[in-house]
Amino acid sequence: CGIFGVLGSEPAAPRLLDALKRLEYRGYDSAGITTLDESGRLGRRRAAGKLRNLEKALDAEPLSGTTGIGHTRWATHGAPTVNNAHPHIAGRVAVVHNGIIENYRTLRDELMARGVKPESDTDTELVAHLVEAALAAGLSPKEAIGATLGKLQGAYALAILIEGEQDLIAAARAGSPLAIGLGEEGTYLGSDAIALAPFSDRLIYMEEGDWALLSRGGVEIFDEAGEPVERAIVATPVSI
Ligand code: GLU
Repeated sequence: CGIFGVLGSEPAAPRLLDALKRLEYRGYDSAGITTLDESGRLGRRRAAGKLRNLEKALDAEPLSGTTGIGHTRWATHGAPTVNNAHPHIAGRVAVVHNGIIENYRTLRDELMARGVKPESDTDTELVAHLVEAALAAGLSPKEAIGATLGKLQGAYALAILIEGEQDLIAAARAGSPLAIGLGEEGTYLGSDAIALAPFSDRLIYMEEGDWALLSRGGVEIFDEAGEPVERAIVATPVSI
């Protein structure tokens, strides 16, 4: 339902929580965040119910790192439990997702035939397994994301982290909005300009079919065919 991502210089977890609070108005049943710590390892906290529960989980066991993604979930595939809450992790890959992967059954059957044992009932987890399999086959992060997107049908916005890649968030937009925020001390990703406004003074609205590799230094955007594209940079509305 709501997505936020940050590549900054300050601890990511409090910023993610703050941004998810700004997305609360859209409704949700559970929430979670993943960060990459100083050594590039993935850490994850999730909770069913209100963001207060996620906050408590983070107070009890904080997450370090300045790179992270967060999600408020509105369940479509699988009950609103902690286990089905995003981010979903497979090996080196963490994914948050808005929307629905339509060919979920086929992908799940194919992955299970190859020995994958899904840990959740979500369509989202399958995306993490697809990227992980592509990386394991020797593809670069960019190639792995491109190959995975080619297999997905449906309406989605995705944000993806890869272990050991502290300067990368991959993002994709197909039928569900996503914008990139450029700020003084970081690069951000959000499903909603309201979540991005406090952090960034310039926004890039991703277009239908676009995918992107975000880093602290900027962003590379590709169209559906994988060709690099330029998208307009607009000033963040001051009224937000
Ligand atoms: N289809 C995904 C799920 O059920 C994402 C739902 C959402 O947009 O929050 O987990």
